[in-house]
Amino acid sequence: MHIYPDAADVVRDLSPDEPVILNRPHAAARAARFFAEKFPGKPLYAVKANPSPDLLQILWDSGITHFDVASIAEVRLVRSLLPDATLCFMHPVKTKSAIREAYFTHGVKTFSLDTLEELNKIVAATTNEAGDPAADLRLCVRLRVSSEFAELSLASKFGIDLADAAPLLQETRQVADWLGVCFHVGSQAMTPFAYIQALERVRAAIAEAAVTVDVVDVGGGFPSVYPGMEPPPLEDYFEIVHRHFEALPIAYNAELWCEPGRALCAEYSSLIVKVEKRRGDELYINDGSYGALFDAAHVDWRFPVAALNSELAGVPAEFSFYGPTCDDADFMKGPFMLPQDIGSGDYIEIGMLGAYGTAMKTGFNGFGDAQVVNVANEPMASMFRGDRPAPTRDNVVSLR
Ligand SMILES: *Cc1c(COP(=O)(O)O)cnc(C)c1O
Repeated sequence: MHIYPDAADVVRDLSPDEPVILNRPHAAARAARFFAEKFPGKPLYAVKANPSPDLLQILWDSGITHFDVASIAEVRLVRSLLPDATLCFMHPVKTKSAIREAYFTHGVKTFSLDTLEELNKIVAATTNEAGDPAADLRLCVRLRVSSEFAELSLASKFGIDLADAAPLLQETRQVADWLGVCFHVGSQAMTPFAYIQALERVRAAIAEAAVTVDVVDVGGGFPSVYPGMEPPPLEDYFEIVHRHFEALPIAYNAELWCEPGRALCAEYSSLIVKVEKRRGDELYINDGSYGALFDAAHVDWRFPVAALNSELAGVPAEFSFYGPTCDDADFMKGPFMLPQDIGSGDYIEIGMLGAYGTAMKTGFNGFGDAQVVNVANEPMASMFRGDRPAPTRDNVVSLR
């Protein structure tokens, strides 16, 4: 496959009328090696952040051996691409047929749950035709934790409350030789303190249930870099997670896991869009909330942008975007900083769309096509390059 040096070169070569996804395999490989080498435990890639087969292969080749899957389609996809990968079905609410197929057809042993009902479902679905219950289940009880330090909350949908956790941990221990506790602090956790608080809850749950725990899975939430969101280095997160994990009352050989989605793939992709119309400080572009920019529209996420036409000389000004569909909600407030003389026919690169970006594209209203090419240059920002700005008041961790 032809590899372009950068986005400007793609525009010169293709003058694309449709959006173009730019993939940076080297950036995903670097993130994977970083987690595989530096996380003091086992990193599972959370496939929902970006299920692209090319990306899954890159992560596997770079040391990621375990995958957090959440649907039977994700189970089938990863299993078909990576026959030797370990798959963990970490959605706490699954169908019986999905559990059965995952266990009997795809060799999935690890499942998460947050209710007694789901525990019974897992046991029933993995019992064989002779009526013998599975002897090799690895079950993780998902605890509800606070999302107060994360940009995107995951606190209300899943997880059992601490007050109710002890009986569920005890029941789960009865049917599984291997018991885990997992949680998710919310996506884009801006301080490692999020994990300290969650691990304190794990400690309380284990102490009250008085069960032996074989794995503590600190979930996802590890951040990437976006305009106005510059987290502390990931090494700080790893160090703090490790220290607090070591102090838990768990089996001496207990394992530490994490489930990064965003942090492993945010830097993998960016997107070239074309400006079709300008109205004041609003740019009508050819991708939007039904494309790779779902979060820009729905939670006002700010992605880095750069104009790709070298003749634009205006000082940077604030713009918002309209996407291509006929829906008023296809609007991205920004502000996105671009040269003030940008206009119809100009191209923009939008960065850091590898996580929950390119994976979100739909075909709504007939839009959604995009060519995909590889580029060799650096992503617009990186957690893994060692050149991030000095800490500011907002991103310094205080260890209370
Ligand atoms: C979405 C999800 C992840 C990944 O979260 P990030 O914030 O992208 O790291 C991990 N685990 C579970 C169970 C998830 O649902």
